[in-house]
Amino acid sequence: MPDGHAERVPYRSIIRDLAQAIPEVPVIAVGRITDPAEAEAIVADGTVALVGVGRALIADPAWVVKAQKGRAHDIRYCVSCNTCWERISQQRVPIACDNNPRVGLADELDYTPSRVERARRIVVVGAGPAGLEAAWIAAARGHQVTLLTRSTEVGGKLRLRALLPGGESVSSVYDYQHAAALRSGCEIVTRREVSLSDVLALEPDAVILATGADMVAPLWLPDELRVSGLVPDLRQGMREVLRHGARQAGAAVIFDMDHSEGTYAAAEHLHAMFEQVYIVTPRDTIAQDLPLVVRQGALAQRGIVCHRIGDAMAARSLQVATSEGHAAGHAV
Ligand code: SF4
Repeated sequence: MPDGHAERVPYRSIIRDLAQAIPEVPVIAVGRITDPAEAEAIVADGTVALVGVGRALIADPAWVVKAQKGRAHDIRYCVSCNTCWERISQQRVPIACDNNPRVGLADELDYTPSRVERARRIVVVGAGPAGLEAAWIAAARGHQVTLLTRSTEVGGKLRLRALLPGGESVSSVYDYQHAAALRSGCEIVTRREVSLSDVLALEPDAVILATGADMVAPLWLPDELRVSGLVPDLRQGMREVLRHGARQAGAAVIFDMDHSEGTYAAAEHLHAMFEQVYIVTPRDTIAQDLPLVVRQGALAQRGIVCHRIGDAMAARSLQVATSEGHAAGHAV
């Protein structure tokens, strides 16, 4: 179940060797084949007789039909996050998918929203994956939809994740939704920070707030450090680091209460930018909430030091680091 750390079709050479060793037996290629063009290529060059697709059909069960009918642009692509697999095999809860909110529902195959009898005026605030999904489905139902975002582009915070290691395929989530919203006739307004009166001026029948969530600073963090900006939240810190681009001296420190996949993608990027990267966590180890295969990818990152540390200890060490300059002004 290769995740975003793996290249596309990562087992291609192993599968080719196997097929050549037993030419009398048809071999099926599997493993992170998410795009019909990848599947076509591996069959066309004679590597294998067949291609097996698993997660790609969870993300979009109409994958085959769309591939056959020249609708590859209309596929919801699997982003190899392994949420589906983790839920059914480890957590023993019903399946869910990061890119197919209708997975397991009776109408999920080539889903087309049903039309409403009475169109309403709907305003959606926030153009991340949740706002985009609500907007395109409401518009496809026949509602008159305006989607407002203060950003210059749609995608929300997921756009930041797409810029970090292993995030290349993530952009397909909001690319699909954006195209669906435009197709459905949704009006998209960017660069618009709205107030309540702005929203009400549009005279909506319904308002959907999808403005996302903010990170919370740890309770032990002294107010003066939080206010000074020396210890930004990880998303803000990564935006700044991505703007700079050049490798620099010093250490980056991540205090990790979150244990989500984006945290370790950020660590991986910081590792390429700083001399040292430290992940400090009060939990037993890092990446505990990730699907197994994704956790393996996070734990396999070389050169990133993980410290298990109590909250009080974290506060003390951060003060020491900043007062003695160990964090080189770039504690994250
Ligand atoms: S949950 Fe993730 S890995 Fe599973 S099908 Fe959906 S996008 Fe792919």
